[in-house]
Amino acid sequence: MQAFSDGLRKAGRTIGFVPTMGFLHEGHLSLMRLARQKADALVVSIFVNPAQFGPGEDFATYPRDLERDMALIATVGADALFTPEAAEIYPRGFETYVSLETLPHHLCGLSRPVFFRGVATVVTKLFHLVKPHLAVFGEKDYQQLQVIRRLVRDLNMDITIIGGPIVREPDGLAMSSRNSYLVPEQRPAALSLYKSLVQAAASVRAGRTRAADLVAEARAAISAHDQNRIDYVSICDPLTLDPIESIQDPALMALAVKVGTTRLIDNIILEPAVL
Ligand code: AMP
Repeated sequence: MQAFSDGLRKAGRTIGFVPTMGFLHEGHLSLMRLARQKADALVVSIFVNPAQFGPGEDFATYPRDLERDMALIATVGADALFTPEAAEIYPRGFETYVSLETLPHHLCGLSRPVFFRGVATVVTKLFHLVKPHLAVFGEKDYQQLQVIRRLVRDLNMDITIIGGPIVREPDGLAMSSRNSYLVPEQRPAALSLYKSLVQAAASVRAGRTRAADLVAEARAAISAHDQNRIDYVSICDPLTLDPIESIQDPALMALAVKVGTTRLIDNIILEPAVL
């Protein structure tokens, strides 16, 4: 991979990179198209990263279908697809991890304590392997995008990080490889995540500012579905992810909910009414 990227760099071509865990959908493809537009060459990786899954999470059952993924990537046209094995990325004796001090102690990091260490470590490694000029990450995983932005600044990585907008199903459900776990009867429960975000955004546009009230309303709407178990619903500062009480500037509303056994996340930016 490094030799391939060195070749591109020697030829004066810029490299755009989209790391994924595979089982691709339109959300991933939109990031690839964005990278294609912004760079001369596109490299995609598929790696289900064991380091970011905790005990009892879905590493073993995470959906995988390389042939289907390759056909989808071909519709965008990548210059390379990098699919390393776990034993190559984490050989025996591996003991160097990258972890952030503060950002992981919010939102998803609270219930997934090893997640961001795993993400920061593998992304650092993938960056050294692929040597991209720019990399594209989805706003669907908002906290992850902030962690990567911070990581790149803090460690002086010479890589431009670009965020891509959330791609949704026609009914509004944020696309996710994990949506394949949902059975049709769970769809209304899963949809309540996006609906409650849209409702909160409308309330804020209409002039409401108290975060606690909006969070309570979203929690009630989501909990009305028996299948749903809320991990968190949070309104927070879009950069620090610290909770906020009163919405005076654009704020992030983010949530994580288990629908049956499937953990889904989603988020929206709440834009206050212009006075
Ligand atoms: P994953 O394969 O789930 O690790 O995701 C790989 C990349 O695709 C990450 O940067 C995600 O944020 C992004 N992504 C996943 N789902 C979506 C979506 N629905 N819209 C936009 N980007 C997404």
